[in-house]
Amino acid sequence: MPPLVANRRLAKAAAAELAVVPLASQTLLGLDLDPDRPGRAGRVTTLLRCGLRDPDGREPPWRRVHRASLKQRLQWLLALCRRTGLGQLSLRCRCPHCAAELELAMALPADQDQADAAPATVDCEPAPGVRLRLRLPTGEDQSRWASRNSTDAAAMARDLVIAVDAGGPGAEGGDRLDPAWLSAIGESLEAADPLTALELHSGCPDCGAALALPVDLERLLLQWLGSRQSGLLFDVHRLASAYHWGEREIAALDPRRRAFYLGCLEREGR
Ligand SMILES: [Zn+2]
Repeated sequence: MPPLVANRRLAKAAAAELAVVPLASQTLLGLDLDPDRPGRAGRVTTLLRCGLRDPDGREPPWRRVHRASLKQRLQWLLALCRRTGLGQLSLRCRCPHCAAELELAMALPADQDQADAAPATVDCEPAPGVRLRLRLPTGEDQSRWASRNSTDAAAMARDLVIAVDAGGPGAEGGDRLDPAWLSAIGESLEAADPLTALELHSGCPDCGAALALPVDLERLLLQWLGSRQSGLLFDVHRLASAYHWGEREIAALDPRRRAFYLGCLEREGR
């Protein structure tokens, strides 16, 4: 039997084999990026597939991306946006103390090395002598929970428990979850995936209060891609109106040439 360490390395290599590529303009035009309509997890899977390539340069299977952990999916989405030109994000919100409308700049979290990504399981000790092993939630879990339209934390935790060791015999599976363990389970999952449970710490420029604002990073990234898409559609409209080229042709133009033609129209006041 080969040593366990070698097996772990092989597993890591398998997990790391997808490369992130920038989104082509033609692809961006065709994507549904609305973060608010039901079915967001499926739309993110579709988007991620467009920006991921296996070693043969092909898009990975839908199931592989959908069943990846939310942690991995968010890292892919962040890397994809970076490669597509994202430099900085800003968060629009209302100060909970003085109700001022704020737009806060947010530093981008560092790209994680996929090969060093934490394993997709997390161990937690929700009570003395009780040990749980959980798997990190996936896009598939997110879809299922959204379709149930339930925020029942106990049911969600049951889906994620792989093993319970409460000191007694036969304590396997997630049916014996004590509701008192739920907050510890939530904390362990957050600690294992800080990007999914991100908080922005800042001060309100109006009233000076210290702010700790929850950030839905996936939503912000989808909104950023959506604004790129709107900008591109507007460019298509301007160029199509002036030159009568088709949408596909305009989207396929090298971005520098597209910018050149737009600059020409600008100079002519069109
Ligand atoms: Zn304030």
